Amino acid sequence: MKRYSAFAIAREALRDHMGWTRAWESPEPRAQYDVIIIGAGGHGLATAYHLGKEHGITNVAVIEKGWLGGGNTGRNTTIIRSNYLQDPSAAIYEKARSLYETLSQDLNYNVMFSPRGVIMLAQTEHEVRGYKRTAHANALQGVATEYIGPQKVKELCPIICLDGPRYPVLGGLWQARGGTARHDAVAWGYARACSDMGMHILQKCEVTGVKTQNGKVTGVTTSRGDIGCNKMGIVVAGNSGHLAEMAGFRLPVESVALQALVSEPIKPCMDVVVMANTVHGYMSQSDKGEMVIGGGADGYNNYTQRGSFHHIEETVRALIETFPMISRLKMLRQWGGIVDMTGDRSPIISKTPLEGCFINCGWGTGGFKAIPGSGFAMAELMATGRSPLAAEFGMERFREGRFIDESVAAGVAH
Ligand SMILES: Cc1cc2nc3c(=O)[nH]c(=O)nc-3n(C[C@H](O)[C@H](O)[C@H](O)COP(=O)(O)OP(=O)(O)OC[C@H]3O[C@@H](n4cnc5c(N)ncnc54)[C@H](O)[C@@H]3O)c2cc1C
Repeated sequence: MKRYSAFAIAREALRDHMGWTRAWESPEPRAQYDVIIIGAGGHGLATAYHLGKEHGITNVAVIEKGWLGGGNTGRNTTIIRSNYLQDPSAAIYEKARSLYETLSQDLNYNVMFSPRGVIMLAQTEHEVRGYKRTAHANALQGVATEYIGPQKVKELCPIICLDGPRYPVLGGLWQARGGTARHDAVAWGYARACSDMGMHILQKCEVTGVKTQNGKVTGVTTSRGDIGCNKMGIVVAGNSGHLAEMAGFRLPVESVALQALVSEPIKPCMDVVVMANTVHGYMSQSDKGEMVIGGGADGYNNYTQRGSFHHIEETVRALIETFPMISRLKMLRQWGGIVDMTGDRSPIISKTPLEGCFINCGWGTGGFKAIPGSGFAMAELMATGRSPLAAEFGMERFREGRFIDESVAAGVAH
């Protein structure tokens, strides 16, 4: 892999940019790999990356039915934060956030991490109490957050209206080192690093069955033929239920579409991310100037991966109370992704009843922010059989009643 650098840009400029090589290879599948990862979203690619980087396992294929990053990883609103309530969540999300800080340098690929700060607005007395509690918990967990009053909210985000008709802004939970990153660059950067380690990224290759022998995984059947493996990781977000069924077990997850939209581009007016969870809307401004807007998940299970008109109206109507200026904006486009929700709104990073088969899913509406930490933990679990970061996220917790309840921090879309 040629390193990307200012020098490389200058060199290529002198030869009409004819010397760039492909960022990742598109090889033919081998008959057998040590590890197969199903799903080339952020979590699958990060898992492969850390298998190679920390554990020296590079005979790996990442199998993707569409194009890499074409699932939720390329469809989300890119909010990164780690101000969760429960200790296991704060640990893995903060690990991820801290890895984001240096991800561009680690991958030699600009993922445009922008730690511009995230405010979660408190618009009811209940939220004030909840966020104060989270700020105290974060202080104990070593996560830098702060409860701020309405004037500080206004200072950080001047376009906000504090005296909304239904829900005035009473304060907020502020994480100064939260922010955004460019979502598809995260997938591309990991893909390039994996390919450079000799791993195979097999796009347009749908897994249609799982092959087993004596209760152990031996490979998969795909639209590009049978492929053998010693270990397999299922990392397919909204499609987790289907893959689990192929592997012979059931998961406590529901799949549901989550939607987002962007406005026409306007001049810079907002340099923080604001989430208004009571009215279910959140907004940031992209580098291109578009207002990136997300709302709640659909109220019924589905696999549509599309936007719908009632959602635009619902989300924009909710946000206009707090940001009256967006009422004059034209909306440019909308889309949806299929997210996988668990009952406690926390993820699953786990061994499964099928020996050699591991699963990473249940990130629901908020897994983009977790990609580097999740990949680190999943790789450790797959390589060594245990991971301290993933220890509490096993799927057996639903049977044992050991929930990691994040319904306040994560039951909203973000
Ligand atoms: C509209 C929206 C807004 C969001 N906003 C945020 C946000 O602001 N912040 C945040 O942290 N999170 C957010 N999320 C959630 C976040 O996007 C996801 O949690 C995260 O991207 C999940 O990544 P993943 O790698 O697990 O899944 P994905 O990126 O969906 O990757 C899974 C891949 O598996 C592939 N696959 C499925 N079945 C098969 C098969 N049979 N064979 C081969 N491949 C298969 C799919 O094609 C897909 O590419 C949002 C999600 C949506 C939809």
